[in-house]
Amino acid sequence: MPLNELLQRLVSLTPGQKSFLSVYLDLRPNRIGKKLYPVFLKTRLREISSLLPARAAEQSLCNQDIKRIQKYLETELDPAWKGIAIFACAADDLFLPIPMPLFPENDVTLSSIPQLFSLVRHKALYQTHAVVEANSRQARLFLIRLGTLSKQINLSWENKHSTRFGRMGWSLPRFQRHLQEHRKQRGKEIVENVKKLILREKPEYLFLAAEEEMEAELKKQLPASLIKKMVPLSVLDLHAPDHKLLSTAAEVLRAISKEKAETFSKYILEEAEPLGRATSGTEATLSALQNHQIERMVFDARFKATGWGCPGCNSLGIGGVPRSCPYCQATIFPSNLREKILSKAQSQGVDLFFTENFSPLLKAGGVAALLKYKTLKKTTGHYIARREKGYPM
Ligand SMILES: [Zn+2]
Repeated sequence: MPLNELLQRLVSLTPGQKSFLSVYLDLRPNRIGKKLYPVFLKTRLREISSLLPARAAEQSLCNQDIKRIQKYLETELDPAWKGIAIFACAADDLFLPIPMPLFPENDVTLSSIPQLFSLVRHKALYQTHAVVEANSRQARLFLIRLGTLSKQINLSWENKHSTRFGRMGWSLPRFQRHLQEHRKQRGKEIVENVKKLILREKPEYLFLAAEEEMEAELKKQLPASLIKKMVPLSVLDLHAPDHKLLSTAAEVLRAISKEKAETFSKYILEEAEPLGRATSGTEATLSALQNHQIERMVFDARFKATGWGCPGCNSLGIGGVPRSCPYCQATIFPSNLREKILSKAQSQGVDLFFTENFSPLLKAGGVAALLKYKTLKKTTGHYIARREKGYPM
């Protein structure tokens, strides 16, 4: 299932007073091969369980989640994964492990909504993509789905004539025609396999590391729909091992999405916001989000926001926690607004972008949004809040 569908499932769960466990684990072993996450996880889960009232239904549900997480990690963990995000909520019969292509910071949170930011900020790496390495003697084809290697094909050919016997006494033009014919045949074989392996998966990108002549040959033979998605990995040594090839492609994928997000941020801050078609900063953006005005949104990975949430009327507000809700007088609680904003945006189907330490956006508050339509009046006042029925806090 693509990441977006998994996220939609996580943000569209039935409302109600529930507790989600959100677990992020760095699965790397240390220098002597020992994995560090089990100790961290055990300590943190024990702390969380002890905070809940003993023998209450909430504690029993939380303990079910804890057991399920531990069992999964002991028996089903794929050793190829670098990190994992797990979302569990026994009250909703939800258990969702998602591999992470980068090492996350170890973290376990029990909260009223799944903590998605650390996962979603890497969403670019979850785009389906293909990586092809090709030279005149061999080719490797990979399909990466949901951040992990899903299919692989290796092809190799023997160069009988040219390697052992030189040109076999042929004239140079004849020998070159012969090589060209080889390349054409091999290119054809690669393209057939590319079609078989990836065409149906609709990849967003096809990363190609190839010898110059082979690249030209593949460009002649690949379908136009794939040529459009082709990105050359020109700096790469063609004999690089598989994992190096795939991590280079992932780095390029990350750089492409980072650049897109930066361009988008600049557009918002320099052009759209002065025209009233965008917002920047937590307060104005939260207000627009609660009014369902946002079309696309950009966060910096370093964005943080704290505030409060009212369980009575579902209002959200930034800054310090007032004594009671200014709208319904209910008791209100401090809230991680970064997670609330992201979750709300995801549930509204807003298109999300992420920059990484991009100072123009950070200076503007770390978050900005392009609006569906122009705003006539800017919201003012200390609290940005709005009543919304049926959406869990
Ligand atoms: Zn309220």
